[in-house]
Amino acid sequence: MTFRYFFVLRLGNHQILHYYIEMNGLLRTNPMLRSILISTFFFACHAFGASIIVVQPISVCNDAGGDCSNSAGQYFEAETDKIWNQADIDISFLPLTEFHNSSFQSINSNTDFVSLVNTPGHGQHATSTVLNMWFLKEIDSGTVSGLGFLGANGVAIADSIFTFADGAGRRDTIAHEIGHNLNLDHTNESNLRLMAPGSLRLKPTNTLNIFPDGVGVSQLTAAEIATAQSSPLVVPVPEPASYAALALIGCLLVVVRRRFQGVAISM
Ligand SMILES: [Zn+2]
Repeated sequence: MTFRYFFVLRLGNHQILHYYIEMNGLLRTNPMLRSILISTFFFACHAFGASIIVVQPISVCNDAGGDCSNSAGQYFEAETDKIWNQADIDISFLPLTEFHNSSFQSINSNTDFVSLVNTPGHGQHATSTVLNMWFLKEIDSGTVSGLGFLGANGVAIADSIFTFADGAGRRDTIAHEIGHNLNLDHTNESNLRLMAPGSLRLKPTNTLNIFPDGVGVSQLTAAEIATAQSSPLVVPVPEPASYAALALIGCLLVVVRRRFQGVAISM
């Protein structure tokens, strides 16, 4: 008997995985094919619980609306997404908005930062679960790349992350500050950890050295992933009902196979 099924999963904002699996009698006798099938369905079950952080980027400009920070709207999105993919969290950036106020183009104290984030009318998104991220010229006279509230909404990013290392950029700062908003504090345990302070941690130069690849920088621990996933800023992916239904069918098939075969599958 030959039967086929096909399903499409939406795993991330830009990633669509197409799984096409053809099954026949080989499956019963071929352990490799069987494990491929099981892991495919594992991803289906996993994707069923995928979640997202929506970010409102806000470019701070002068009073006249000129001299805007990060007007090109760069977010090192490939690196940011790969880092947070460790926690099955997709980072999705809304269109850039502007906030015109010369006095906030550079900030020099925590008081300035609190005022920038907590004063209404500074470009914040109307939805409280959307993470507000301001891009500005300078923080603490150029000594700080980014600031983020611990366990609360609000990030500031300095333009220096784009000019760092002759323009290579500090590609993990946005991901790191998001981590603070998700209630992750600093750790000094390893320079490979995302939440090591900027003075300690190794910075990715591209996606190829971000965990689990290359030297494995920007790592999140299981405990950090659990903490991050419990943040109110992390919301379920609004998956089209048909995809969700197909993923559910995949999950049920795994259960049926487990019962039928009586084998233990580590999930
Ligand atoms: Zn930090």
